[in-house]
Amino acid sequence: MPFKQLGLSADILRAISDQGYVNPTPIQKQAIPIIIEGQDVMGGAQTGTGKTAGFTLPMLQRLERHANTSMSPAKHPIRALILVPTRELALQVYESVKIYSKYLPLRSTVIYGGVNIDTQIDILRSGVEILVATPGRLLDHLQQKNLVLSKVEILILDEADRMLDMGFLPDIKQITQLLPDHRQNLMFSATFSEEIRKLANKILKQPVVIEVAKQNSVSELITHIVHPVESARKQELLIWLITQQNLKQVLVFTRTKQGADRLTQQLARQGISTAAIHGDRNQLQRTQALESFKQGSIQVLVATEVAARGLDIEELTHVINFELPNNPEDYVHRIGRTGRAGAKGYAISLVSQEESHLLVDIEKLLKTKIKIEEIKAFEQKSTAQPVSGKEKIPAKKPRNNTSPQNKRPNNYIKQNGSAPRFNKEETFRNVRHPKSAEDPLFTQPYVSTAKIDIATRQADISGKAESINASRSSSSKPVPALFSPRVMNKQK
Ligand code: AMP
Repeated sequence: MPFKQLGLSADILRAISDQGYVNPTPIQKQAIPIIIEGQDVMGGAQTGTGKTAGFTLPMLQRLERHANTSMSPAKHPIRALILVPTRELALQVYESVKIYSKYLPLRSTVIYGGVNIDTQIDILRSGVEILVATPGRLLDHLQQKNLVLSKVEILILDEADRMLDMGFLPDIKQITQLLPDHRQNLMFSATFSEEIRKLANKILKQPVVIEVAKQNSVSELITHIVHPVESARKQELLIWLITQQNLKQVLVFTRTKQGADRLTQQLARQGISTAAIHGDRNQLQRTQALESFKQGSIQVLVATEVAARGLDIEELTHVINFELPNNPEDYVHRIGRTGRAGAKGYAISLVSQEESHLLVDIEKLLKTKIKIEEIKAFEQKSTAQPVSGKEKIPAKKPRNNTSPQNKRPNNYIKQNGSAPRFNKEETFRNVRHPKSAEDPLFTQPYVSTAKIDIATRQADISGKAESINASRSSSSKPVPALFSPRVMNKQK
């Protein structure tokens, strides 16, 4: 189905075409007509699915009737409010709004903390129809009476799960109390926790629930690899990988801000152009680092979790986890920076034995095992203990590694005497660890082979769901469960 059939105006279609988009993504196909109709939506979608355009395009369509070129601020009240958890995501969403609204006389701006408030005040006072905001800074402006929200027709909460994780619930409650009761509400979240359901119940009115699998399932787009390595040699291995493979653009994740700074300095000392992006960097530094990375003048961007949220870098091929995240869901967010919009990507993790339990948690969440490749020059002196002291570790059947995610390009690691060695993975995984207890989930690497592309349900979030359109297509390929849609409510 082309974009033309979704009910978007010629000016919006022209902007889409300028972007080179040919067909809508699954979430766009489902969400755009429903949002144009004026219904509330609960969207279950991760980044990389095209969800931003999925809500921005129909929002613009609904606001088009207000478009005007008057200079009077009174003619440009805030009609749509988009709340997001981080500054990076705010900028990202604002960029999309600007791109898709470029042929419409609708004004937009973005407000977030950590930067001078005065410039934001000037823009707000001149009037904007679309406001992208982080909750804290929006409240600052509301307290200073720099804006009013009484004309808001559409409220959008993007990455609602992250907003709750970051403690924004009280702010969101406060903000929604200042909005007109009669409005359209759209909420997007990668996960559906109990808290998200509660929030959805409070905010949304008879929402249509749209859930999509990540576009072009990650199993086909992203190759996951673990390189076991001693903690002390990670930096050396990282440099080896970057130089051996001549990687031009790499996003590297560390767990802490200090770790990010340390690594940045170490890489720079080796002549690798690097910048760090984390919470202690001011907004200017973060924006500059990201811009230099996007333009290719910086080879490596070292990031922490929060700072990386919302990053959209075209054609990013490699994400390297210098350290695994404590929370397995963050692995998914991290690697979601690559393999976007149909492009291929590599998610490489440098894992020490102390982190093996984190790997087990990630594999449980993904419901698949990640290929472990030991690089000879970085072999670990094994301190692994078999699960049972006396017994030998039972040999597991070799897995069928013919799925695309396990295929490696021929030049993956150049053979220079340091060729990778395989098959140490059982030893690596079988390190005795309290969290690596046997779990039935873990022995079931994949969900059913029935691949569900989209399930759209008219739902009462509290549990009464009725299917209005659920399309299932069968596929011969197994799909990691994480990337198949979750079923929010059992149908009655
Ligand atoms: P998002 O999930 O909103 O972060 O979008 C992920 C990426 O997909 C962004 O780089 C968008 O520019 C791109 N994108 C969004 N919609 C489409 C589409 N219909 N066709 C191709 N690329 C798209």
